[in-house]
Amino acid sequence: MDNLRLNSSSQANPLQQNTAITNHNPVRHRDAITAPSAASGGVPEPTPAYLQQSSFPPFPLPSPQPILVVIDLNGTLLHRPRPSSPTHFIERPGASSFLRHCVAHHHVVVWSSAQAPNVERMCAQLLPPDILSRVVAVWGRDRFGLTTADYRRRTQCYKRLTRLWADPGVALSHPIPACAWSQANTVLIDDSAEKARSEPYNAITVPEFGGGARGNSAVEPEDEVLSRVEAYLDTLTWQMDVSAYIRRNPFTMETEEETASPMAQEEEGEAE
Ligand SMILES: [Mg+2]
Repeated sequence: MDNLRLNSSSQANPLQQNTAITNHNPVRHRDAITAPSAASGGVPEPTPAYLQQSSFPPFPLPSPQPILVVIDLNGTLLHRPRPSSPTHFIERPGASSFLRHCVAHHHVVVWSSAQAPNVERMCAQLLPPDILSRVVAVWGRDRFGLTTADYRRRTQCYKRLTRLWADPGVALSHPIPACAWSQANTVLIDDSAEKARSEPYNAITVPEFGGGARGNSAVEPEDEVLSRVEAYLDTLTWQMDVSAYIRRNPFTMETEEETASPMAQEEEGEAE
């Protein structure tokens, strides 16, 4: 199956305004990522109450609970090779089936820092309308609370889960009356740990997908990331508080043997 998805649209991307191209060097140079201004919310930190709740011992449930799965696009489900073509992307192996599985078994929000119209177009390419209609929400760059200036520059975006929990439409999607989405039952899947700075123990941080054989970075030929995440999500549904579980058992691509091997740990330390 051809994972290369093309889209003819080339909507103006404000990030392009910060790029510079020379005639002698075809490499596109982009401005450094800057921290959001105070007016955009600044750089968040976990609250003491959040840290305290996540520090309790994990507690298994007798039956699975619903979870809200918040999924990033670029670097997680897909790779966009050209900033000038914001909806042209290469799909990570298994991305569509992973999304379908999540929609079928969990409650899904797609949240990307790309512009909202581009996020919607990418979702429409990843999922057929009947599946996409079951996604709780599709959020783009307009949902970070950025000032106009920060929206237009390469600002570090923070996916504050509190923004999701406070959203009436998202809150109403919890299937059990009187229950709410919270740090106990929300998971953010992103290739950037920094995005989850405010709720770090609600995050599954995956290796960045750079396009695989068709892209510009080395990705193992059999990219098993999303199948591993799928299994980890299933484990989380059996936990009373996912943040308590993730704090002690964070998602990893290492096998149990690698985790247990002192030699492997030494080699990893040398590489840093
Ligand atoms: Mg990303």
